[in-house]
Amino acid sequence: MSNNWEDLVNFDKQHIWHPYTSLSHPTPVFPVKSASDVRLTLEDGRELIDGMSSWWAAIHGYNHPTLNAAIENQLKSMSHVMFGGLTHKPAVDLAKKLIDISHDDLQHVFFADSGSVAVEVAIKMALQYCSSLGQPQKQRLLTIKNGYHGDTFGAMAVCDPDNGMHHLFSNVLAQHLFAKSPDCRDQTTYDQAAIDDFEHLLKDNIGTIAAVIIEPLVQGAGGMRFYSSAYLKKVRELCDEHDVLLILDEIATGFGRTGTLFAYEQAQIAPDILCVGKALTGGYVSLAATLCSSKVADGIGGGQHPTLMHGPTFMANPLACAVANASLEVLLASPWQTSVQRIEKQLQSELAPCSQLSAVKEVRVKGAIGVIELHQPVDIDWIQPRFVELGVWVRPFSTLIYVMPPYIMTTADLSTLTSAMHQVACDIDTINDQPKAGGK
Ligand SMILES: *Cc1c(COP(=O)(O)O)cnc(C)c1O
Repeated sequence: MSNNWEDLVNFDKQHIWHPYTSLSHPTPVFPVKSASDVRLTLEDGRELIDGMSSWWAAIHGYNHPTLNAAIENQLKSMSHVMFGGLTHKPAVDLAKKLIDISHDDLQHVFFADSGSVAVEVAIKMALQYCSSLGQPQKQRLLTIKNGYHGDTFGAMAVCDPDNGMHHLFSNVLAQHLFAKSPDCRDQTTYDQAAIDDFEHLLKDNIGTIAAVIIEPLVQGAGGMRFYSSAYLKKVRELCDEHDVLLILDEIATGFGRTGTLFAYEQAQIAPDILCVGKALTGGYVSLAATLCSSKVADGIGGGQHPTLMHGPTFMANPLACAVANASLEVLLASPWQTSVQRIEKQLQSELAPCSQLSAVKEVRVKGAIGVIELHQPVDIDWIQPRFVELGVWVRPFSTLIYVMPPYIMTTADLSTLTSAMHQVACDIDTINDQPKAGGK
């Protein structure tokens, strides 16, 4: 093969699956040569301002000198050793940090290799906990609609039953319980109807429910919906009242994205089990973790089967732990709260005009997350090249054009990003206004 990047794209198109794509109807992919700060450089030399942080992960931007140094230094001593029977400083340091920055109740850490696996482990913990307490019939989970918790079978079974992949796998997926999702608009109190639905499902199925699993305050890939901390607080109260574990999936929201280090802090609550991932390594390599309270760990440990039945080959990979340690140090030493607030204000003011457009259903902003929800799903074959043409990297899905930029993005770069979003929303209005002649 030649080194020509057009050959590269052609080979890719014929042989490689991308996330949620078809090999029979491939959508365009853009070859990236390098990435630095908040910019991606394409093989053809074009530079794009990155609005996605590579799916919530690259919070400090790309090619960060401190993160680079951490992984290079670790490489010199060891890149990997098995975690069965062995341990190492990068893992211990990272566990200490995670325990330190999360709620005091969370004292135990399981290192997983991806967010989905962290969710699988959280579910196993909850089920094993109940079985250790002599309640093996408690095997179901209660969650809310519009959630997203990953793509593996256990995680998929708690994703939104309608917009997820349930119908394809319905015969093999575990059957869980789905309450109405809380209304996005009310951010001060909570949606009573949603809480009533949740409470009914909880009460009616209490004998079979092991845990509640939910994304705190922001539902990510299941619809980019926001809900109030009052709702989350109520969920915690109901879990306590009915003695059910609460699993919080902070894989997307963790590490500052919503304005607090963890979103649950805004509801002044703590989970029994917490999943983190995505931004954990600052977007360098895949790593996730499941934390739990001593109540959960002791419960599992005190039962007939005290062994937590999970152990990935690359568990606690030292390179991943080392870069995660560096990422957390960089984050905590940075004025991340000020940055997130600044991004939030700017997203609010610069995306607000989009709500005037007829293609737009709603504009919403929370922390460093900006969402334009449209009435109609986007045409990805058109919209993706259009964003690239405008010099930004934004990856819409369904009816959602959204960004969650690296925290280090300057005001000027963020303006370029929001202008591009506004421009594209205007384009959609113009396209919709044209008489339809067989096109989309
Ligand atoms: C991305 C995500 C996951 C899955 O993480 P992967 O690393 O992609 O497996 C789970 N839960 C939430 C909330 C996520 O945003």
